[in-house]
Amino acid sequence: MNIHEYQAKQLLAKFGVPVSKGIPCKTVDEVGKAYTDLGVPLAVVKAQIHAGGRGKAGGVKLVRSADEAKKVAQNLLGKPLVTHQTGPQGRIVKTLYVEAGSDIAREMYLAVLMDRAVQAPVVIAAAEGGVEIEELAAHKPQAIARHRVHPVKGLMPFQARALCKHLGLVGEQAKAGAKLIGGLVRAFMELDCSLAEINPMIVTKQGEVKALDAKMGFDDNALFRHKEVAELRDLNEEDPKEVEAKKFDLSYIALSGNIGCMVNGAGLAMATMDVIQQKGGMPANFLDVGGGANKEQVTDAFRILLSDQNVKGILVNIFGGIMKCDTIAEGVIAAAKETHLSVPLVVRLEGTNVELGRKLLQQSGLDLATAATLDEAAEKIVAAIR
Ligand code: GDP
Ligand code: MN
Repeated sequence: MNIHEYQAKQLLAKFGVPVSKGIPCKTVDEVGKAYTDLGVPLAVVKAQIHAGGRGKAGGVKLVRSADEAKKVAQNLLGKPLVTHQTGPQGRIVKTLYVEAGSDIAREMYLAVLMDRAVQAPVVIAAAEGGVEIEELAAHKPQAIARHRVHPVKGLMPFQARALCKHLGLVGEQAKAGAKLIGGLVRAFMELDCSLAEINPMIVTKQGEVKALDAKMGFDDNALFRHKEVAELRDLNEEDPKEVEAKKFDLSYIALSGNIGCMVNGAGLAMATMDVIQQKGGMPANFLDVGGGANKEQVTDAFRILLSDQNVKGILVNIFGGIMKCDTIAEGVIAAAKETHLSVPLVVRLEGTNVELGRKLLQQSGLDLATAATLDEAAEKIVAAIR
């Protein structure tokens, strides 16, 4: 789960990360009032969407009066903002964050993320902010410092000092930098983050060190431990199909292809997606209906698959282990009828009572193809949508 910049800043402030004062707003008038309430000559109006690259896309504007702030708000609120991370349709801006403006002397990059290779969080820092970190990693990898965080002991003081040195911070600024880095790491660990990124971290002309932007992502599987974080969820920012799937306890992830997949078991679902691609197709989703999926779940899954306009065909690949193949076949038949299925459907069943399951499918009167192997199933669905 991701949260908005202003929410991340509110959380990080509790861990001692310095941020500017700001006010989240939902209307043009609120934005005007926020400028006045901040009482600063320079403020920044920032579109709150779960995507980066807002600055270049016109979603971050410096303003010097309440009227100017309102004008900016008028141009942003309720409209889609297209950045290089949103896709061409963009994201509708529903919240603006009005923040006291900073006099930037220097921009840096700082992030904590989970590194599976070293089985621990790592802190990543670069003295060159503003540029995209991916670009820096590709062309100038030596500019990026990496420090593994001990999973129990946390970040060691010497590591924070080394990171500050790499960032070119000295004296009081190094002390402030170490405190900021320490706070970010503690927030990451205590809140079960998957990512905590500050881009840019800045030094102001007055010599302050602070977080000018903040992005945080959380491990969904740990959210039950953090009610206060879970409450920050913004369903507007999530794929409606994924939100719907969650209600029915289905693991669903939307992808960009056109073959809808319904599979039981995460491993089998991944294998199915791989084989579809090997046969020249593109999966529209990852969907694991679980080992004990019932008829209702199969129907819900079908509805979600079909609500995706891109889906031109469906591949069902189910192994009847806990569930018997005839039960699954009944579920598929009921779902296909209930949803008035109008795209090609290929079903591959294997496991307990497979013969009976196949017979039910063949006798269903539905226009569907069956397959004995995964290869055959993938070939059939790819051919069917051509
Ligand atoms: P992003 O483009 O979505 O990553 O949004 P950021 O919050 O990182 O802002 C983009 C850029 O806007 C920053 O890199 C800064 O250059 C600029 N910016 C943001 N806030 C301020 C500010 O308070 N003062 C000044 N001068 N520039 C700012
Ligand atoms: Mn940024």
